[in-house]
Amino acid sequence: MKFPVELILLALVPVFLLFVAWELFRLRRQGRLSVYDWRDSACCAALGLLHQGADKLAWVFVLPLYGWIYQQHRLFDFADSYLSFFLLFLGQDFLYYWFHRVSHRVRWLWAAHSVHHSSTRMNFTTAFRQSLMYPLAGMWAFWLPLAWLGFPPQQVVAVVLLNLAFQFFVHTQIVPKLGWLEYVFNTPSIHRTHHAKNPRYIDHNYAGVLVVWDRLFGTFVEERDSDPCEYGTVKPVSSFNPLWVSVVEWRDMLVEAWRADNWRDRLVSLFGPPEAAEEVAARQRLRVEAPRQVA
Ligand SMILES: [Zn+2]
Ligand SMILES: [Zn+2]
Repeated sequence: MKFPVELILLALVPVFLLFVAWELFRLRRQGRLSVYDWRDSACCAALGLLHQGADKLAWVFVLPLYGWIYQQHRLFDFADSYLSFFLLFLGQDFLYYWFHRVSHRVRWLWAAHSVHHSSTRMNFTTAFRQSLMYPLAGMWAFWLPLAWLGFPPQQVVAVVLLNLAFQFFVHTQIVPKLGWLEYVFNTPSIHRTHHAKNPRYIDHNYAGVLVVWDRLFGTFVEERDSDPCEYGTVKPVSSFNPLWVSVVEWRDMLVEAWRADNWRDRLVSLFGPPEAAEEVAARQRLRVEAPRQVA
């Protein structure tokens, strides 16, 4: 029987938990156990399970579309070889970089991706913090070009999940910079800055596996001891309820788009960069509060 590739991440849970135990052990020896908060980690774990459920459901609907594009419209026929798997990995990691970059710059996708960033903690359990809303946001559309190029849908799913599995290992504060690896791969140091809201770091280091995309497209920033990472989002989400954390940014987005008094603001609320959408929201708050103050 063939291993169902959709279950790769769930199958790796024992490995992930071993690394969580190792991290806890190291932190305890360093007297830094406060890096963990059990409520935060429980919320992350619940979000991870919700995301896995939504993801499996989404593949049921999306795989036939991938299959149709692959069967009817593929450009090339790749033989089953290490070279074609390497090309698939490279192509998916490149697309992941753009998916991730767009997820930070377009509110519609940020509504889903912000869940991953809404913790003020950074440890291995932060990696479990994923959004169940990704299928609605349209994450699956970013991998469609791979099926169109001629990679079998099952292989595409496998590579998408292996990329995510790799990223588990970069969510930690106990691993320092890793020498020459920093030039090639996404590392804990590189990903720590990605989760930081410090002005120097915000909206940089979108890498999945390879950091070369950030270096190539001008979004790389190096972690500095003089500027320690402050984790979390500019607009804080102070809740450990996984369902609330999953939907709060969608609610804000839809309410602000509904309240907008012109189409430009409405479009910015839905598809603008998060900081531009926040300006629209701030103006709306002023409009609501000003009459109250007069009264
Ligand atoms: Zn991100
Ligand atoms: Zn992350």
